[in-house]
Formats: sequence, C-alpha cells, structure tokens
Amino acid sequence: MALWDKIGSSGDVEDRRGMGTGGIALTGVGGLILFLAFAFLGGGTGQNGSVLEQILGQVADQQSTPTTQPAEFQGADQYETFTKKVLGSNNDIWSAIFQVQGRSYEPPKLVLFRSATQSGCGYASSAVGPHYCPEDQTIYLDETFFDELQRRYGGSSGDVAQAYVIAHEAGHHVQNQLGTMDEVTQAQQDNPDQANTLSEALELQADCYAGIWMHSLSAEGILEPGEIHQALSAAAAVGDDHIQKIETGTTNPETWTHGSSSQRTQWFNTGYTTGKLTSCNTFQ
Ligand SMILES: [Zn+2]
Repeated sequence: MALWDKIGSSGDVEDRRGMGTGGIALTGVGGLILFLAFAFLGGGTGQNGSVLEQILGQVADQQSTPTTQPAEFQGADQYETFTKKVLGSNNDIWSAIFQVQGRSYEPPKLVLFRSATQSGCGYASSAVGPHYCPEDQTIYLDETFFDELQRRYGGSSGDVAQAYVIAHEAGHHVQNQLGTMDEVTQAQQDNPDQANTLSEALELQADCYAGIWMHSLSAEGILEPGEIHQALSAAAAVGDDHIQKIETGTTNPETWTHGSSSQRTQWFNTGYTTGKLTSCNTFQ
C-alpha cells in the first residue's frame, strides 16, 4: 500500500453510500434532464464521445452491484479518508500547476455512492463506472466498481489503481477548468465524424494528467517502487480493445472513445515520467 498517511490535505468528499436510491424519481426519459458525463471506461458502447446513451440505458436496465469493500479498505470511514487524501493531493498539485500559469484552481467535489444517485448530469449509475459531471464539477464513485474491474477485465483493484482512477476523473475536472472540455464538445458538434477521435484524445489526456499527479507522489516518497504497476494494470484493463474483446469477442477501433490498452498505458506513462502538462498534448 502506498503511504497515504503522508498526505495532509483533504478534498471535498460527500459520502452518500448509506442513503440508498430512494430519493431518485424516475419519471421516464422525457422527464430527465441529461448532460454529458465523462467516464473512466468506454468499451465501444458510447456514441459521439459521451456516455449519455449508457446512462439512458441504465435508467431502464439498472443492474445490482456487489457490495463488498475492497480488501485494503475495511470500513467505510477508512475509504472516505483515502478518497479525501487522494483528492486533496490532486488539488495541491493542480493548484500549484495552475498558479505557475497565473490561473487559480477551483477544486472539484467527489461523491461516494452505491448503485445510483442524483447528479448535476441527471442520473449517476454505478453501471456507468466512475465518472465526472462538468455541470456540478463533481466526481461520482461507487468503489465496488473496482471488484468489477478485477473480476471482469483482469485489472488491478489495489489502492494505487484506485487512486489512478480518481486522478483520471480529477484530470477531467482540470480539462473543464482549462476550457479543453468545452472546446472538444464544440468540435464534436461541428465535426460529428471526428467525435470518437476527439473523445479518445480527451480521455488519453485525462490518463496523462493522472500520470502527472502520480509523478509527484513518487517524488514525495508516497508511492513505493513498483506500485505504479497497479495503475498501469488498470489502464491496460480498460483499453477499449480489451473491453471490446471481452464483451464481444472482436475489436472495432472506429467505435472507440477512450483509446486502446497500449494508448492508455502509454499516455499515463508519459505524464508519469515527465510530470509536465505540456507533455500531455494528445490532440496533435
Ligand atoms: Zn474519462
């Protein structure tokens, strides 16, 4: 386990795991206001670079999710503390990077939930996986996702892998703050045939940004040698080619929205080795 106790900062985390889903009124698709959300994994089911269709699909087809705690974190409070530290540390790094550029960084929020909850994007379902909603600048995380990541896709579900996923979502918040997200959404509307390619570039950049944060963890001695492989394992497991192969038996690059296993590990590694924002230009 990485030395998370060394992190003194704390992010803004709201724990809704005990609340259930009773507060969500589903009055049919017509009654829902849906905005784009940006997810950790694609798998070729998304269209136009968003998970909108998946979210819509889940409204009618809500799956039950496992309720086991990841082995490293027995007890809800411990997991909340872990996410607060990971988010707080991300905030520190991005505040410092923004400051160098003469910008100010407004930290995101993180909501822990089970099965489903209400978000600024309309409806947050566990089945979509971890995601970021730009409307309320909040990361939505049901950590039972990591059981699924390991069981179904063979990726590491260790603490460093989990931290990478949170950092990927924090990376989307950085893109939102920098205006990249709006630019990409606009470009996708203007060039629908480029929508998936643009989505891939956005997702790979979020992986690269997660790498930048992990670079700083290594420099501070929080990450122990070898633990980075957990993050690389998770990145490889959620490559669109890998997910597609498991789900459908074939791969179809034209439908990819997040990038292949090798692209995702490569861009994470680029951020991790350089620690530089300028190295993350995935739009070239
Ligand atoms: Zn993403």
